[in-house]
Amino acid sequence: MHTQYPFERNIIKKCDICDNIVLVDEFGHGRCEHCNWAQSKSHEESEGYHKISYPDLVPLSKARIQYKNGQPFTPSFEDFINGLLFYS
Ligand SMILES: [Zn+2]
Repeated sequence: MHTQYPFERNIIKKCDICDNIVLVDEFGHGRCEHCNWAQSKSHEESEGYHKISYPDLVPLSKARIQYKNGQPFTPSFEDFINGLLFYS
């Protein structure tokens, strides 16, 4: 039996941050249960540009460092302002 739901999270990928298995929907959205990072295709597309994506508001490169250091994903004030500017 094969039933399609528009937002079903049935795609397996590696977490952008911790490399654990995470289930995402067809848009690449899904939250990692291990590190709580919200996966997003826009992270992949923007990697290298240090652009910030809702809902995390932390650049992927910085989030990886914070994960390694055991820190929560917290944007700096500058990241937060950039996020506001980007989405306003
Ligand atoms: Zn993760």
